[in-house]
Amino acid sequence: MKVLVINCGSSSLKYQVLDMTNETLLAKGLVERIGIEGSIISHEKIGMDKFKLTTPMETHKDAIKHVLDALMDPEHGVVTSMDEIGAVGHRVVHAGEKYASSVLINEDVINALEECVELAPLHNPPNLLGIAACQELMPTTPMVGVFDTAFHQTMPPESYIYAIPYEYYEKYGIRRYGFHGTSHKYVAERTADILGVNIKDLKIITCHLGNGASVSAIKRGVCIDTSMGFTPLEGLVMGTRSGDIDPAIVSFIRQKENLPAGESTNILNKKSGVLGISGVSSDFRDLEVAVAEGNERAALALKVFAHKVRFYIGAYIAEMNGVDAIVFTAGVGENDINMRDVICSELGNLGIKLDLVKNKVRGKETIISREDSKVKILLIPTNEELMIARDTFNIVKGL
Ligand code: ADP
Repeated sequence: MKVLVINCGSSSLKYQVLDMTNETLLAKGLVERIGIEGSIISHEKIGMDKFKLTTPMETHKDAIKHVLDALMDPEHGVVTSMDEIGAVGHRVVHAGEKYASSVLINEDVINALEECVELAPLHNPPNLLGIAACQELMPTTPMVGVFDTAFHQTMPPESYIYAIPYEYYEKYGIRRYGFHGTSHKYVAERTADILGVNIKDLKIITCHLGNGASVSAIKRGVCIDTSMGFTPLEGLVMGTRSGDIDPAIVSFIRQKENLPAGESTNILNKKSGVLGISGVSSDFRDLEVAVAEGNERAALALKVFAHKVRFYIGAYIAEMNGVDAIVFTAGVGENDINMRDVICSELGNLGIKLDLVKNKVRGKETIISREDSKVKILLIPTNEELMIARDTFNIVKGL
Protein backbone atom coordinates (compact mmCIF):
# COMPACT_ATOMS: atom_id res chain seq x y z
CA MET A 1 0.00 0.00 0.00
CA LYS A 2 1.19 3.52 -0.84
CA VAL A 3 0.57 6.07 1.91
CA LEU A 4 0.55 9.85 1.48
CA VAL A 5 1.73 11.74 4.56
CA ILE A 6 0.58 15.35 4.91
CA ASN A 7 1.91 17.92 7.37
CA CYS A 8 -0.07 21.10 6.85
CA GLY A 9 1.02 24.46 8.28
CA SER A 10 -0.66 27.84 7.92
CA SER A 11 1.09 28.78 4.67
CA SER A 12 3.13 25.66 3.93
CA LEU A 13 2.58 21.96 3.43
CA LYS A 14 5.10 19.11 3.56
CA TYR A 15 4.31 15.74 2.03
CA GLN A 16 5.81 12.33 1.42
CA VAL A 17 4.66 9.17 -0.32
CA LEU A 18 5.90 5.88 1.11
CA ASP A 19 5.45 2.37 -0.17
CA MET A 20 4.56 0.50 3.02
CA THR A 21 5.25 -2.97 1.62
CA ASN A 22 8.92 -2.20 2.29
CA GLU A 23 8.72 1.22 4.00
CA THR A 24 10.52 2.99 1.16
CA LEU A 25 10.21 6.66 0.43
CA LEU A 26 9.00 7.24 -3.14
CA ALA A 27 8.57 11.02 -3.28
CA LYS A 28 8.58 14.07 -1.07
CA GLY A 29 7.94 17.75 -1.40
CA LEU A 30 7.02 21.08 0.03
CA VAL A 31 4.46 23.72 -0.89
CA GLU A 32 5.25 27.20 0.36
CA ARG A 33 3.47 30.56 0.39
CA ILE A 34 -0.07 29.13 0.25
CA GLY A 35 -2.46 32.10 0.03
CA ILE A 36 0.48 34.49 -0.49
CA GLU A 37 1.90 35.80 -3.77
CA GLY A 38 4.60 33.53 -5.19
CA SER A 39 3.14 30.14 -4.12
CA ILE A 40 5.60 27.43 -5.04
CA ILE A 41 5.74 23.64 -4.99
CA SER A 42 9.08 21.79 -4.85
CA HIS A 43 8.65 18.11 -5.65
CA GLU A 44 11.20 15.32 -5.66
CA LYS A 45 10.75 11.82 -6.95
CA ILE A 46 13.45 9.92 -5.09
CA GLY A 47 16.39 9.34 -7.43
CA MET A 48 15.49 12.24 -9.73
CA ASP A 49 16.22 15.96 -9.69
CA LYS A 50 13.74 18.21 -7.86
CA PHE A 51 11.28 20.20 -9.90
CA LYS A 52 9.78 23.48 -8.81
CA LEU A 53 6.62 25.15 -10.03
CA THR A 54 5.55 28.66 -9.13
CA THR A 55 1.82 29.00 -9.61
CA PRO A 56 -0.97 30.71 -7.65
CA MET A 57 -2.31 28.57 -4.78
CA GLU A 58 -4.96 30.49 -2.90
CA THR A 59 -6.07 27.72 -0.55
CA HIS A 60 -4.85 24.47 0.99
CA LYS A 61 -7.14 22.67 -1.43
CA ASP A 62 -5.29 24.30 -4.38
CA ALA A 63 -2.01 23.19 -2.80
CA ILE A 64 -3.14 19.59 -2.39
CA LYS A 65 -4.44 19.55 -6.00
CA HIS A 66 -0.92 20.47 -7.13
CA VAL A 67 0.59 17.82 -4.86
CA LEU A 68 -1.70 15.18 -6.39
CA ASP A 69 -0.86 16.42 -9.92
CA ALA A 70 2.86 16.13 -9.10
CA LEU A 71 2.34 12.62 -7.70
CA MET A 72 0.56 11.56 -10.92
CA ASP A 73 2.94 13.40 -13.30
CA PRO A 74 4.15 11.04 -16.07
CA GLU A 75 7.80 11.96 -15.45
CA HIS A 76 8.05 12.96 -11.78
CA GLY A 77 5.06 11.03 -10.45
CA VAL A 78 4.96 7.84 -8.36
CA VAL A 79 1.36 6.73 -9.01
CA THR A 80 -0.66 6.47 -12.20
CA SER A 81 -4.00 7.27 -10.56
CA MET A 82 -5.19 8.58 -7.20
CA ASP A 83 -6.65 5.14 -6.40
CA GLU A 84 -3.12 3.85 -5.92
CA ILE A 85 -2.86 5.96 -2.75
CA GLY A 86 -4.30 3.56 -0.18
CA ALA A 87 -4.49 6.02 2.71
CA VAL A 88 -3.50 9.50 3.85
CA GLY A 89 -1.82 10.11 7.22
CA HIS A 90 -2.22 13.62 8.62
CA ARG A 91 0.03 15.13 11.24
CA VAL A 92 -2.15 16.95 13.75
CA VAL A 93 -0.58 18.87 16.62
CA HIS A 94 -3.15 18.76 19.39
CA ALA A 95 -5.67 16.10 20.33
CA GLY A 96 -6.06 17.22 23.95
CA GLU A 97 -6.96 14.35 26.26
CA LYS A 98 -9.12 12.77 23.61
CA TYR A 99 -6.65 10.49 21.79
CA ALA A 100 -3.69 8.55 23.16
CA SER A 101 -2.93 7.01 19.77
CA SER A 102 -3.55 7.57 16.07
CA VAL A 103 -7.12 7.18 14.79
CA LEU A 104 -9.11 6.75 11.60
CA ILE A 105 -10.61 10.15 10.84
CA ASN A 106 -14.40 10.41 10.88
CA GLU A 107 -16.81 13.17 11.78
CA ASP A 108 -16.42 12.58 15.54
CA VAL A 109 -12.65 12.92 15.24
CA ILE A 110 -12.97 16.18 13.27
CA ASN A 111 -15.33 17.54 15.95
CA ALA A 112 -12.90 16.54 18.71
CA LEU A 113 -9.99 18.22 16.90
CA GLU A 114 -12.05 21.35 16.37
CA GLU A 115 -12.62 21.44 20.13
CA CYS A 116 -8.83 21.44 20.54
CA VAL A 117 -8.38 24.53 18.33
CA GLU A 118 -8.30 26.82 21.37
CA LEU A 119 -5.44 24.72 22.80
CA ALA A 120 -3.40 25.00 19.57
CA PRO A 121 -4.79 28.04 17.73
CA LEU A 122 -1.84 28.31 15.34
CA HIS A 123 -1.51 24.64 14.46
CA ASN A 124 -4.82 22.77 14.57
CA PRO A 125 -6.68 25.06 12.10
CA PRO A 126 -4.25 24.46 9.19
CA ASN A 127 -4.09 20.75 10.11
CA LEU A 128 -7.88 20.63 9.83
CA LEU A 129 -7.81 22.55 6.52
CA GLY A 130 -5.44 19.90 5.14
CA ILE A 131 -7.78 17.09 6.23
CA ALA A 132 -10.84 18.82 4.72
CA ALA A 133 -9.03 19.47 1.43
CA CYS A 134 -7.91 15.83 1.14
CA GLN A 135 -11.40 14.58 2.00
CA GLU A 136 -12.85 16.72 -0.79
CA LEU A 137 -10.28 15.66 -3.37
CA MET A 138 -10.02 12.00 -2.33
CA PRO A 139 -13.48 11.23 -0.92
CA THR A 140 -13.09 7.45 -0.81
CA THR A 141 -9.52 7.30 0.58
CA PRO A 142 -9.27 6.54 4.31
CA MET A 143 -7.52 9.22 6.38
CA VAL A 144 -5.71 8.78 9.68
CA GLY A 145 -4.86 11.44 12.26
CA VAL A 146 -1.47 11.17 14.02
CA PHE A 147 -1.14 13.52 16.95
CA ASP A 148 1.91 15.20 18.50
CA THR A 149 0.30 15.00 21.93
CA ALA A 150 -0.83 11.35 21.79
CA PHE A 151 2.38 9.63 22.95
CA HIS A 152 2.48 11.77 26.10
CA GLN A 153 -1.02 10.82 27.21
CA THR A 154 0.49 8.05 29.36
CA MET A 155 2.01 10.64 31.72
CA PRO A 156 0.75 10.17 35.28
CA PRO A 157 -1.23 13.06 36.86
CA GLU A 158 1.75 14.09 39.02
CA SER A 159 3.61 14.86 35.77
CA TYR A 160 0.82 16.72 34.02
CA ILE A 161 -1.09 18.61 36.71
CA TYR A 162 0.01 22.20 37.32
CA ALA A 163 -0.09 23.45 40.89
CA ILE A 164 -2.71 26.09 40.10
CA PRO A 165 -6.41 25.96 41.13
CA TYR A 166 -7.64 22.53 40.03
CA GLU A 167 -10.80 24.03 38.57
CA TYR A 168 -8.74 25.48 35.68
CA TYR A 169 -7.84 21.94 34.67
CA GLU A 170 -11.47 20.88 34.94
CA LYS A 171 -12.95 23.95 33.23
CA TYR A 172 -10.34 24.75 30.58
CA GLY A 173 -8.15 21.67 30.26
CA ILE A 174 -5.09 23.55 31.55
CA ARG A 175 -2.54 20.79 32.12
CA ARG A 176 0.73 19.65 30.60
CA TYR A 177 0.24 17.87 27.25
CA GLY A 178 3.71 17.69 25.66
CA PHE A 179 4.55 17.78 21.95
CA HIS A 180 6.96 16.16 19.43
CA GLY A 181 5.37 12.87 20.55
CA THR A 182 5.75 11.18 17.16
CA SER A 183 9.47 11.91 17.17
CA HIS A 184 10.04 10.80 20.79
CA LYS A 185 8.15 7.56 20.08
CA TYR A 186 10.06 6.89 16.86
CA VAL A 187 13.54 7.33 18.36
CA ALA A 188 12.61 5.35 21.50
CA GLU A 189 11.44 2.41 19.36
CA ARG A 190 14.57 2.65 17.18
CA THR A 191 16.71 2.64 20.35
CA ALA A 192 15.19 -0.65 21.44
CA ASP A 193 15.72 -2.09 17.93
CA ILE A 194 19.33 -0.90 17.70
CA LEU A 195 20.19 -2.20 21.19
CA GLY A 196 18.28 -5.44 20.55
CA VAL A 197 16.42 -5.07 23.85
CA ASN A 198 12.66 -5.15 24.41
CA ILE A 199 11.50 -1.55 24.93
CA LYS A 200 9.58 -2.78 28.01
CA ASP A 201 12.97 -3.45 29.65
CA LEU A 202 14.40 0.00 28.98
CA LYS A 203 14.48 3.43 30.59
CA ILE A 204 15.16 5.96 27.83
CA ILE A 205 15.64 9.72 27.79
CA THR A 206 14.94 11.14 24.34
CA CYS A 207 16.32 14.61 23.52
CA HIS A 208 14.56 16.15 20.50
CA LEU A 209 16.73 19.22 20.00
CA GLY A 210 15.64 21.21 16.96
CA ASN A 211 14.45 24.75 16.59
CA GLY A 212 11.70 23.61 18.97
CA ALA A 213 13.16 21.30 21.61
CA SER A 214 11.89 18.85 24.21
CA VAL A 215 13.12 15.98 26.36
CA SER A 216 11.04 12.94 27.34
CA ALA A 217 11.38 10.23 29.98
CA ILE A 218 10.25 6.89 28.54
CA LYS A 219 9.98 4.01 30.97
CA ARG A 220 9.05 0.54 29.72
CA GLY A 221 7.98 2.02 26.36
CA VAL A 222 5.61 4.64 27.75
CA CYS A 223 6.17 8.33 28.28
CA ILE A 224 6.11 9.27 31.96
CA ASP A 225 7.22 12.88 31.60
CA THR A 226 8.15 15.43 28.96
CA SER A 227 9.48 18.97 29.11
CA MET A 228 6.89 20.81 26.97
CA GLY A 229 3.63 21.62 28.71
CA PHE A 230 0.27 23.24 28.05
CA THR A 231 1.94 24.76 24.97
CA PRO A 232 5.34 24.15 23.34
CA LEU A 233 6.70 27.14 25.26
CA GLU A 234 7.54 25.23 28.44
CA GLY A 235 10.73 23.31 29.16
CA LEU A 236 14.04 23.66 27.38
CA VAL A 237 15.55 26.85 26.04
CA MET A 238 14.83 26.75 22.28
CA GLY A 239 15.74 28.64 19.12
CA THR A 240 13.35 31.51 19.85
CA ARG A 241 11.32 30.22 22.85
CA SER A 242 12.25 30.94 26.43
CA GLY A 243 11.31 27.57 27.92
CA ASP A 244 10.77 27.57 31.70
CA ILE A 245 10.79 30.99 33.32
CA ASP A 246 9.34 32.46 36.48
CA PRO A 247 5.75 33.26 35.41
CA ALA A 248 5.89 36.54 37.33
CA ILE A 249 8.26 37.85 34.63
CA VAL A 250 5.39 38.03 32.14
CA SER A 251 3.37 40.70 33.93
CA PHE A 252 6.55 42.46 35.09
CA ILE A 253 7.81 42.93 31.51
CA ARG A 254 4.34 43.89 30.31
CA GLN A 255 4.22 46.68 32.85
CA LYS A 256 7.79 47.90 32.44
CA GLU A 257 7.68 47.94 28.64
CA ASN A 258 4.03 49.00 28.44
CA LEU A 259 3.29 46.12 26.08
CA PRO A 260 -0.05 45.53 24.35
CA ALA A 261 -2.00 42.38 25.27
CA GLY A 262 -0.42 39.23 23.89
CA GLU A 263 2.94 40.85 23.16
CA SER A 264 4.72 39.33 26.17
CA THR A 265 3.72 35.83 25.04
CA ASN A 266 4.90 36.73 21.54
CA ILE A 267 8.27 37.82 22.96
CA LEU A 268 8.60 34.53 24.87
CA ASN A 269 7.73 32.52 21.73
CA LYS A 270 9.51 34.44 18.98
CA LYS A 271 12.21 36.69 20.44
CA SER A 272 13.62 34.63 23.31
CA GLY A 273 15.60 31.40 23.55
CA VAL A 274 19.16 31.36 22.18
CA LEU A 275 18.15 34.21 19.82
CA GLY A 276 17.07 36.36 22.76
CA ILE A 277 20.19 35.70 24.81
CA SER A 278 22.68 36.05 21.95
CA GLY A 279 20.99 38.76 19.89
CA VAL A 280 22.60 36.94 16.96
CA SER A 281 20.44 34.08 15.65
CA SER A 282 18.21 31.17 16.57
CA ASP A 283 20.34 28.90 14.37
CA PHE A 284 23.06 27.02 16.24
CA ARG A 285 25.35 27.13 13.20
CA ASP A 286 25.31 30.94 13.28
CA LEU A 287 25.92 30.91 17.02
CA GLU A 288 28.95 28.68 16.65
CA VAL A 289 30.41 31.03 14.02
CA ALA A 290 29.76 33.96 16.37
CA VAL A 291 31.43 32.13 19.28
CA ALA A 292 34.50 31.49 17.11
CA GLU A 293 34.61 35.24 16.44
CA GLY A 294 34.62 35.90 20.18
CA ASN A 295 30.93 36.78 20.72
CA GLU A 296 30.38 36.23 24.45
CA ARG A 297 26.60 36.37 24.42
CA ALA A 298 26.47 33.69 21.72
CA ALA A 299 28.70 31.56 23.95
CA LEU A 300 26.41 32.25 26.91
CA ALA A 301 23.32 31.27 24.87
CA LEU A 302 24.84 27.88 24.04
CA LYS A 303 25.83 27.35 27.69
CA VAL A 304 22.33 28.16 28.93
CA PHE A 305 20.84 25.78 26.34
CA ALA A 306 23.17 22.93 27.37
CA HIS A 307 22.57 23.63 31.06
CA LYS A 308 18.83 23.18 30.62
CA VAL A 309 19.16 19.91 28.69
CA ARG A 310 21.45 18.52 31.42
CA PHE A 311 18.99 19.74 34.04
CA TYR A 312 16.18 17.72 32.47
CA ILE A 313 18.37 14.67 31.90
CA GLY A 314 19.21 14.72 35.61
CA ALA A 315 15.59 15.17 36.60
CA TYR A 316 14.44 12.28 34.42
CA ILE A 317 17.14 9.97 35.74
CA ALA A 318 15.76 10.69 39.20
CA GLU A 319 12.16 10.22 38.05
CA MET A 320 12.89 6.86 36.43
CA ASN A 321 15.37 5.73 39.09
CA GLY A 322 18.02 5.32 36.42
CA VAL A 323 18.49 5.40 32.67
CA ASP A 324 19.68 2.85 30.12
CA ALA A 325 19.89 5.04 27.04
CA ILE A 326 20.01 8.73 26.13
CA VAL A 327 19.09 9.61 22.56
CA PHE A 328 19.82 12.75 20.56
CA THR A 329 17.66 13.69 17.59
CA ALA A 330 16.40 16.64 15.42
CA GLY A 331 18.50 19.40 13.82
CA VAL A 332 20.78 20.23 16.77
CA GLY A 333 20.74 16.74 18.33
CA GLU A 334 21.67 15.08 15.03
CA ASN A 335 24.25 17.59 13.81
CA ASP A 336 25.81 19.57 16.62
CA ILE A 337 28.83 17.54 17.72
CA ASN A 338 30.01 20.18 20.15
CA MET A 339 26.61 20.58 21.82
CA ARG A 340 26.28 16.81 22.41
CA ASP A 341 29.77 16.87 23.90
CA VAL A 342 28.97 19.78 26.26
CA ILE A 343 25.65 18.21 27.35
CA CYS A 344 27.25 14.85 28.13
CA SER A 345 30.41 16.15 29.75
CA GLU A 346 30.98 15.47 33.44
CA LEU A 347 28.15 12.96 33.72
CA GLY A 348 30.59 10.07 34.22
CA ASN A 349 29.51 9.52 37.81
CA LEU A 350 26.04 8.77 36.49
CA GLY A 351 27.51 6.18 34.13
CA ILE A 352 27.15 8.44 31.07
CA LYS A 353 30.35 8.55 29.02
CA LEU A 354 30.44 9.98 25.51
CA ASP A 355 33.06 8.63 23.07
CA LEU A 356 34.57 11.80 21.62
CA VAL A 357 35.66 10.01 18.42
CA LYS A 358 32.38 8.17 17.78
CA ASN A 359 30.58 11.45 18.51
CA LYS A 360 32.16 13.04 15.42
CA VAL A 361 29.20 12.09 13.26
CA ARG A 362 26.21 13.90 11.81
CA GLY A 363 22.76 12.67 10.79
CA LYS A 364 23.55 8.93 10.95
CA GLU A 365 22.28 6.29 13.39
CA THR A 366 25.26 5.67 15.67
CA ILE A 367 25.98 4.54 19.23
CA ILE A 368 28.22 7.36 20.45
CA SER A 369 28.91 6.23 24.03
CA ARG A 370 32.18 4.62 25.17
CA GLU A 371 32.37 0.85 25.58
CA ASP A 372 32.64 1.33 29.37
CA SER A 373 29.63 3.66 29.54
CA LYS A 374 26.86 2.07 31.61
CA VAL A 375 24.35 4.23 29.78
CA LYS A 376 24.21 3.97 25.99
CA ILE A 377 24.19 7.29 24.15
CA LEU A 378 22.71 7.23 20.66
CA LEU A 379 22.32 9.56 17.73
CA ILE A 380 19.14 8.67 15.84
CA PRO A 381 17.82 10.87 13.01
CA THR A 382 14.13 11.32 13.61
CA ASN A 383 11.60 10.24 11.00
CA GLU A 384 8.17 11.51 11.93
CA GLU A 385 6.82 10.89 8.41
CA LEU A 386 7.70 7.20 8.56
CA MET A 387 6.02 6.94 11.96
CA ILE A 388 2.88 8.64 10.58
CA ALA A 389 2.89 6.33 7.54
CA ARG A 390 3.32 3.26 9.79
CA ASP A 391 0.41 4.20 12.04
CA THR A 392 -1.71 5.03 8.99
CA PHE A 393 -0.88 1.73 7.29
CA ASN A 394 -1.50 -0.33 10.44
CA ILE A 395 -4.89 1.29 11.06
CA VAL A 396 -6.05 1.11 7.44
CA LYS A 397 -4.91 -2.45 6.71
CA GLY A 398 -7.16 -3.63 9.52
CA LEU A 399 -10.27 -2.09 7.92
P1 ADP B 1 12.41 22.26 13.47
O1 ADP B 1 12.10 22.37 14.93
O2 ADP B 1 12.17 23.52 12.72
O3 ADP B 1 11.87 21.01 12.80
P2 ADP B 1 15.00 21.05 13.04
O4 ADP B 1 14.88 19.82 13.85
O5 ADP B 1 15.04 20.92 11.56
O6 ADP B 1 13.96 22.14 13.47
O7 ADP B 1 16.32 21.82 13.52
C1 ADP B 1 16.72 22.99 12.90
C2 ADP B 1 17.89 23.56 13.70
O8 ADP B 1 18.96 22.60 13.75
C3 ADP B 1 18.54 24.78 13.06
O9 ADP B 1 17.89 25.97 13.43
C4 ADP B 1 19.93 24.74 13.62
O10 ADP B 1 19.96 25.43 14.84
C5 ADP B 1 20.19 23.27 13.91
N1 ADP B 1 21.19 22.68 13.01
C6 ADP B 1 21.00 22.16 11.79
N2 ADP B 1 22.18 21.72 11.27
C7 ADP B 1 23.13 22.00 12.19
C8 ADP B 1 24.55 21.80 12.26
N3 ADP B 1 25.23 21.25 11.27
N4 ADP B 1 25.18 22.20 13.38
C9 ADP B 1 24.50 22.77 14.40
N5 ADP B 1 23.17 22.98 14.40
C10 ADP B 1 22.50 22.59 13.31
